[in-house]
Amino acid sequence: MSRRRQIYEGKAKILYEGPEPGTLIQYFKDDATAFNAQKKGTIAGKGVLNNRISEHIFTLLGTIGIPHHFIRRLNMREQLIRQVEIVPIEVVVRNVAAGTLSKRLGIEEGTQLPRTIIEYYYKDDALGDPLIADEHIACFGWASQEEMNDMADMAVRINDFLAGLFAGIGIRLVDFKLEFGRIWENDFSRVILADEISPDGCRLWDMTTNEKLDKDRFRRDLGGEAEAYQEVARRLGLMPEGEANSVLDLEKHRKKRGK
Ligand code: C5P
Repeated sequence: MSRRRQIYEGKAKILYEGPEPGTLIQYFKDDATAFNAQKKGTIAGKGVLNNRISEHIFTLLGTIGIPHHFIRRLNMREQLIRQVEIVPIEVVVRNVAAGTLSKRLGIEEGTQLPRTIIEYYYKDDALGDPLIADEHIACFGWASQEEMNDMADMAVRINDFLAGLFAGIGIRLVDFKLEFGRIWENDFSRVILADEISPDGCRLWDMTTNEKLDKDRFRRDLGGEAEAYQEVARRLGLMPEGEANSVLDLEKHRKKRGK
């Protein structure tokens, strides 16, 4: 029996060679890292949930005309995707101050921003993914001006769509990270949405309790990360019937920490 060829292993995912040229298999692990992998752990069942949540979101984004790499889900932890050349930029969209924005600029977490902010970070683990300006991207040729325009336009449309989607299920979309990849058609390339969209790369707060339903539970040792991811999946209508009662016991974790 021949083993399939591993192309890449990241912090939360593994990429394998796909069944046809130009395709890859994206495998979702339960591993979780934070602060540039200084903190490591696992969240039981995270890979299964993120695979499902990301499938759902990419499929919906496809219906509003966002081009993306997702082809189909193969099983609990794997999806078939188009092979792309990843643009080495993380695009972060922020609606509410949190995380590094709050820290860097001293703006209290939870402050509603008067306008949406798009930030760019250079994807480089050794450098800790530094914040960069458009000028750096142009200067070092990480993306062309046309690609930058396309990525920014898509980021705004994705934000509008997802903010509405999550608001409809009682969740505030605080911020999130996107990655894009290039695909080549003859001599021309274009950028499409790649990677994943899941509670690993989004801040999602319950609209009434402000409870965090995302990876900040892991980053900040709040506990209940598996329950939080399940709650997002449940509200998106992705949990099988009968499991609806097994979720959102975050109160327990708060009490345990004496808050
Ligand atoms: O940490 P920071 O506040 O800059 O993160 C902004 C958003 O981008 C958060 O939703 C976080 O989950 C996401 N992010 C990510 N991967 C990174 C950096 C940030 O998914 N490497």
